[in-house]
Amino acid sequence: MALSNKKKILITVILAAAAALYLGGRSFLETCYYPSILMYHSVDDHGAKLKLSIPVKEFRAQMKYLRDRKYEIISSVQLADMIKSGKKIPRNIAVVTFDDGYLDNYINAFPVLKEYKVPATIFVISGSIGKPDFLTAAQMKEMSDAGIDIESHSVTHPFIEGTTEEGFKREAVGSKKAIEAITGKPVYTFCFPYGGFNDFTRGILRDAGYKAGFVTMPRDNSIALDPYRLRRIKIASGPFSSLDFRIKTSGYYIWLKAHRWKKKK
Ligand SMILES: [Zn+2]
Repeated sequence: MALSNKKKILITVILAAAAALYLGGRSFLETCYYPSILMYHSVDDHGAKLKLSIPVKEFRAQMKYLRDRKYEIISSVQLADMIKSGKKIPRNIAVVTFDDGYLDNYINAFPVLKEYKVPATIFVISGSIGKPDFLTAAQMKEMSDAGIDIESHSVTHPFIEGTTEEGFKREAVGSKKAIEAITGKPVYTFCFPYGGFNDFTRGILRDAGYKAGFVTMPRDNSIALDPYRLRRIKIASGPFSSLDFRIKTSGYYIWLKAHRWKKKK
């Protein structure tokens, strides 16, 4: 019988730990660490968005886990500032992000985020604000006032690899202005739709006043902490497994994934 993905990951973790000890323990682990930046979409018991949705109970269990295990949960902007400062990143960092700005983030996730005092980041598509199933301006303002960062996920959610420089500039600048007009706070971080980026995105984001850009999991093996290409860990649906979540929030999951792409090439 084939091994399940979870078992494969666990075996890889054990092998990696053994390799780490063999290769000089601490200093090796230092080079493999990457802060755990979690990517959510919908929090919804009906699983309306299938693979992108997780039930409220699971989401609460995950936030409780982070708090119980004394993670330092910071916002996307705080992470960007931390990287820019050049100081050593603490080994217990977790960042909770949501993509697209769905209505259920307000209805289902926001109460849990308040309960566990999680300074999450919601990346909204400015052109979708107030549309059916998406957050309204009033909901965004209320969450922003309560300490949730409302950041940019473009105006129209295009695949960036297919846009022109001018087109990307419009997406980056237009969404930033629209969101800032609602929350009254500066927008400092950008999340790439579908995780696609380009050679010109870094310069355009920087010029527009962004401190960081978030991707998903590019298929390359670099685990350098590049503020304009920060890698995130997708939290998928399925019954909450503390083992699975523990691996994903270990600080070494990105290294493991990057290592896997490298092997496959
Ligand atoms: Zn998206």
